[in-house]
Amino acid sequence: MIRRNKPFAEIRCAASAEAVAARQTVARQMRKKTTLSANPDSSSARSDDGRLSSCAYAQANEALAGTDGLLDVHYSHKLEGLVPKRWFRWMLKKISATGPRGTALERILSSYHNPRAPLWDRVKFWPFHLLIDRTRGQTPPETVRTKLAEHAPTVRGLVITTQSLARYGLTVPQRFSAPLFCVWNFTNKCNMMCRHCYQDSQPAHMQDELTLQEKLDVVDQLGRLYVPMLALAGGEPTMSPHLLAVLHRARQYQIHTTVATNGSTMTEKLAGELAEAGVKYVEISLDSVNPARHDAFRGSAGMWDRAVAGMRAVVNTKGLRLGVAMCVHQGNFHEVRDMMEFAINIGAGVFAHFNFIPVGRGIKMVNGDLTPAQREQLLELLNDYMQAGRIGVISTAPQFGRVCLARSPVQTGKTACSHAGAGAGVKARVVGKYLGGCGAGRTYICIEPAGDVTPCVYLPHRVMGNVRVKPITEIFHNSTYYEVLNDRYYRLHHCRVCAFKNYCGGCRARADAYFGLLHAGDPGCIFNDKHWGHLVETGVAVTSPQTETAPENVLLTPTRHGLG
Ligand code: SF4
Ligand code: SF4
Repeated sequence: MIRRNKPFAEIRCAASAEAVAARQTVARQMRKKTTLSANPDSSSARSDDGRLSSCAYAQANEALAGTDGLLDVHYSHKLEGLVPKRWFRWMLKKISATGPRGTALERILSSYHNPRAPLWDRVKFWPFHLLIDRTRGQTPPETVRTKLAEHAPTVRGLVITTQSLARYGLTVPQRFSAPLFCVWNFTNKCNMMCRHCYQDSQPAHMQDELTLQEKLDVVDQLGRLYVPMLALAGGEPTMSPHLLAVLHRARQYQIHTTVATNGSTMTEKLAGELAEAGVKYVEISLDSVNPARHDAFRGSAGMWDRAVAGMRAVVNTKGLRLGVAMCVHQGNFHEVRDMMEFAINIGAGVFAHFNFIPVGRGIKMVNGDLTPAQREQLLELLNDYMQAGRIGVISTAPQFGRVCLARSPVQTGKTACSHAGAGAGVKARVVGKYLGGCGAGRTYICIEPAGDVTPCVYLPHRVMGNVRVKPITEIFHNSTYYEVLNDRYYRLHHCRVCAFKNYCGGCRARADAYFGLLHAGDPGCIFNDKHWGHLVETGVAVTSPQTETAPENVLLTPTRHGLG
């Protein structure tokens, strides 16, 4: 049986007794301060949150017809039945324990159908190879070898997953022993002044940014924790003199590294150096297909040309994949289709949608946020492109997983399993149930330029700790936000009862920005559009095609000011 997450204050896990006690204290304090919901109706059909309930939405979508009474959209795999067994958990613990030669799991995978592996490993781990064969379904062993066993970041992710299952058992959403993904705002320095910047970057470095030695130590920690993916962002990461040294260190651990840049500094030489340092994916952001509009938004002339030249440099560099990133708001909502066609034509492998959140410098364009109906329309368009397969699509809107589930064929359709990845068929839906939606402080952490660790880049004021003071693993597990972010039953508004909460969970940053509460409902979702309407009525939210200046009468919550 799958263990559902228990209510907020009652969760027990294998963290230190001190950490559990601290979390429970926080849970009690939060319970006193906040109520779960005034509405006792816990059905996904309840209609006081939005014009449409998640239940009615599910009933209206063919792909979901017949699922679990439509109150709990549920997909499963036979492996789920094994995890709760004590012997299986014991075995997971053994094979994922780290020793001088790494973990047994790594050796099991490297010797699977591999005639070059040491004979002893092939004999010793034969029962595990048999188990893989029994559970791989129709996937050929060669594919398992190349896509899984020989792909170091995937193996690293499997080590963390195995350690997590051994430690916490199977939970929905899955609790992890270490983050799977780290976004590192590498420097606060940037050569642009983009109006939506969550980081509020500046033309100069911050005085107290991490030194090179401290950065290398961070990579060593991530390496030893088996973190599989590291994205360097900013500020403008290519303006840091430490970039290549850090990437080379990450390469030693075979961490999958990516770089997100405004593209203005990207040359063929730099692209070659990034590839040499092990980078596989470079993401360049563009706000408009119209050069003048992009430049106006970025605050400098000629930036569109430089970004596009940077994209060409990346496309022309062997080993690099290009992602075109677009933060969508009122000012460019009408251009998304054109931008996707632009990305396809220039040779990008991925279109990355960034969900505008009013934090950082973005507070000043709070009126640029999309309405729930616009966001839904946007996600449906992204899903159409993803299913067509002309370009990979990722989105930081957690509702994207829900849209894919509802609007693609169950057996063959693609589904977003997280902000960074997608898969096809029922297996991807099962993965999405454990991994999907908001990963803040759960599957993912952010490191700020001066070493603060936060659950997400859009939650810069929710500091969990600082790498100068504590090891990352301690910060991750002992965070005061750990329980609330890992417990999707502790939610307000429709997010509390939603049929899709396992796959989505609502954007915690958007909830926090508008309600000042990490566990509030996501007011950007169609199932919460009555709450969005209330925010608009009370002046907390406003949408306007004129995003040049923030309206003076918009009320800003304390957390949007970074005071939460
Ligand atoms: S944002 Fe909340 S209500 Fe909307 S789909 Fe996600 S979990 Fe459901
Ligand atoms: S808070 Fe969650 S859903 Fe929102 S951007 Fe961060 S990780 Fe994504």
